[in-house]
Amino acid sequence: MIDKDILNIMGCIRCKSKLIDKEDHLECDQCNIGYPIEDDIPRMVEDRIFSLND
Ligand SMILES: [Zn+2]
Repeated sequence: MIDKDILNIMGCIRCKSKLIDKEDHLECDQCNIGYPIEDDIPRMVEDRIFSLND
């Protein structure tokens, strides 16, 4: 679980939208991408982004 204050400060690195906390990763609805969370730290880097294809 990511601290809500941190979540509010962080935005998607592509579109700057707010991210959704999905416990094991963060999601951007606008870009349809996810950011992995490792050791409680979101990996907010381009080469760790994965696409959400539901
Ligand atoms: Zn985005």
